[in-house]
Amino acid sequence: MEKILSEEALSCFRQLTAEAQHIVICAHVNPDGDALGSSLAMKKYLSREGKDVQVVVPTSFPDFLRWLPGATEVKVYARHEAEVADVVKAADLFLVADFNDPSRLMGLQETVMDNPAPKIMIDHHTAPSDFCQIVASRPEMCATAEVWCHLLDQMGELEHISHDEAVCIYTAMMCDTGAFTYASNRPAVYECIGKLLACGIDKDKIYRNVFWTASPARMKLMGYMLYVKMELVPQMHASIMTLTNSERRLFGIKNGDTEGFVNMPLQIMGMRLSVFLAEDTEHPGVIKVSLRSVDDFPCNEMAARFFNGGGHKNASGGRLQCNMEEAVKTVKNAIRAYETLLK
Ligand code: 5GP
Ligand code: MN
Repeated sequence: MEKILSEEALSCFRQLTAEAQHIVICAHVNPDGDALGSSLAMKKYLSREGKDVQVVVPTSFPDFLRWLPGATEVKVYARHEAEVADVVKAADLFLVADFNDPSRLMGLQETVMDNPAPKIMIDHHTAPSDFCQIVASRPEMCATAEVWCHLLDQMGELEHISHDEAVCIYTAMMCDTGAFTYASNRPAVYECIGKLLACGIDKDKIYRNVFWTASPARMKLMGYMLYVKMELVPQMHASIMTLTNSERRLFGIKNGDTEGFVNMPLQIMGMRLSVFLAEDTEHPGVIKVSLRSVDDFPCNEMAARFFNGGGHKNASGGRLQCNMEEAVKTVKNAIRAYETLLK
């Protein structure tokens, strides 16, 4: 297992958590399995320490994560703005989970940043912004939950975690690695998994709960996307797929039903880059961009340069303020700009 914090930072972490009474753990907009799983695991640990702890997210999370132990207690700002804002205002300590820039909090950003309470970042994205007193940022790790797992070990707490805590950590790591099919070659990942399995978790059931559970609407949309909407740029080894809100309505698509669609074109032999464009359900005129790549293609660079975003080398995203037609044009420009790497 790996050390996450220096001795000095660790004692600061212990002091801040010991002194706090009302801790808010916040995760990023459109929380994924890692954001939610790592936040819930942190909540379970801090609750055992006798703290009042709330997990707060800007927008709701997909249905396939609703079974996670504690998920129903997560406070969703988009659903209960006033109530969640009050919880945030009352916090005397923040844990920043699975993001590293306040802008990822969207509508919650101002309320969180206006509260002067100390902030502790636990994350695995590159280039963290400077807004936290303690920064546990390890971009080489597969998930924020992996960072948390090592940190629990460093604190001598990993032996004491509950079955539910282990489930949350494992689920988070599994989600951010596509069930350990990418970003998961470090042996330390499997040291963590060994410790989690020793808590009695059923990893096969967790896999089924997350990856092998779909609504009829999702299955039908998947077929439509692959058959009708997947546009290949074969000479560039790239693929573009688009989804509009009227298509969402046509298929009866719910939040989370399109999870993982961006990965599908990468199954095509030789494909290096997949781009998925979706109209934002909450912000008209905004297109959410998702990028996935294989091997060395840096889609986080592309996301920063063309899509006002960022992320990991092989999985990143961003946003465009335009209509779908213009967004596709921007994607084609981006692909052309990276011709030498893609061809
Ligand atoms: P997804 O395509 O699943 O929405 O996002 C994949 C990854 O890209 C996320 O884990 C996150 O690291 C990054 N990402 C997605 N959207 C944005 C964005 O708008 N800004 C930044 N900086 N990163 C993003
Ligand atoms: Mn993550």
